[in-house]
Amino acid sequence: MTDQGFSTKAIHAGWDPDGRTGAVNVPIYASSTFAQDGVGGMRDGFEYSRTGNPTRRVLEANLASIEGGAYGRGFSSGMAATDAMLRAALRPGDHLVIPNDAYGGTFRLIDKVFSQWGITYSVAPVVDVDAVRAAMTDKTKLVWIESPTNPLLNVGDIAALAEVAHAGGAKLVVDNTFATPYLQQPLSLGADVVLHSTTKYLGGHSDVVGGGLVTNDEQLDADIAFLQNGAGAVPGPFDAFLTLRGIKTLAVRMERHCDNAEKLVDVLSKHPKIDSVLYPGLASHPGHAAAEKQMRRFGGMISVRLAGGKQAALDFCAKTEIFTLAESLGGIESLIEHPGAMTHASTAGSLLEVPDDLVRLSVGIEDADDLIADVEQALG
Ligand code: PLP
Repeated sequence: MTDQGFSTKAIHAGWDPDGRTGAVNVPIYASSTFAQDGVGGMRDGFEYSRTGNPTRRVLEANLASIEGGAYGRGFSSGMAATDAMLRAALRPGDHLVIPNDAYGGTFRLIDKVFSQWGITYSVAPVVDVDAVRAAMTDKTKLVWIESPTNPLLNVGDIAALAEVAHAGGAKLVVDNTFATPYLQQPLSLGADVVLHSTTKYLGGHSDVVGGGLVTNDEQLDADIAFLQNGAGAVPGPFDAFLTLRGIKTLAVRMERHCDNAEKLVDVLSKHPKIDSVLYPGLASHPGHAAAEKQMRRFGGMISVRLAGGKQAALDFCAKTEIFTLAESLGGIESLIEHPGAMTHASTAGSLLEVPDDLVRLSVGIEDADDLIADVEQALG
């Protein structure tokens, strides 16, 4: 069969209607253990749900398919996936390069936990391929990027960064949480691993926490699978089911997220209370050319810097009525937050510290006119 389109894979990959009952959706296999036909006689490869669960297996096959990879692994959160990835690839003495803006939790894990085990890191802006190359040492095993980054929405040229990483003997990990595989497929651009917080756009309804890793590298997948089972940060079957249900509508949701974000960017760009709008779709954005090359559209995340500084940013967050003041992103409902005090508080005083006049908007799929009216009334 010719390669299927994105939504066909998102809706079908990993599951055919059940042979016995005809169920068109994978059941939630709420079973911690599986009967064996004699010692070692596993049915369909299942023995214990930390090691493997049928609902999770469908999610993993689906994740691999929509990212265009051979192997997918599900985790109990994006951070659990991050932790497994770092442990699969790094040993004491190794070094990695991370973005100079990245999700605060990723930075915290590397800076506070992995540093205790003799792993060092350097930071570099993902937009600057030469700076990433210069940050690498002979000990560098991973170049870790987000694109677009959280929260400044910087864009890295994934193909160029893959070349730089590989030339230095390192692997490139792309956290694809903001873009989603609908908008961007890093493995096809040369990345070695794609990471997701499936909590965000893939789940899409702010009702489940999860993570995933996808790769074409058989050995790396085996190392990840060993840790997935050995450390056990796995999603339960209900979580796997909810994430799968979200993925089925990813393409239509992303189109609407992008439509709404573009309309809001128009309004925000002209607003006197907004100093600057950070959105990869703007021609003035430093990563626009790379984004245009590697992304289908520019996503549903917008960051803005307020002309009135930190207090104006806090006031904006406090005054929206449809945009809910909350951490997280990627759900159908619009969210607003102050990264400096919320999602990125752990970067305070570090090279990853975010500006205090910054506000991050996760643009939902409500009616665009209502979102525009909400932002306008909140800015006053
Ligand atoms: N990566 C990015 C880009 C994120 O924004 C987040 C969470 O906000 C994570 C990873 C961590 O994911 P989780 O919250 O599912 O552990």
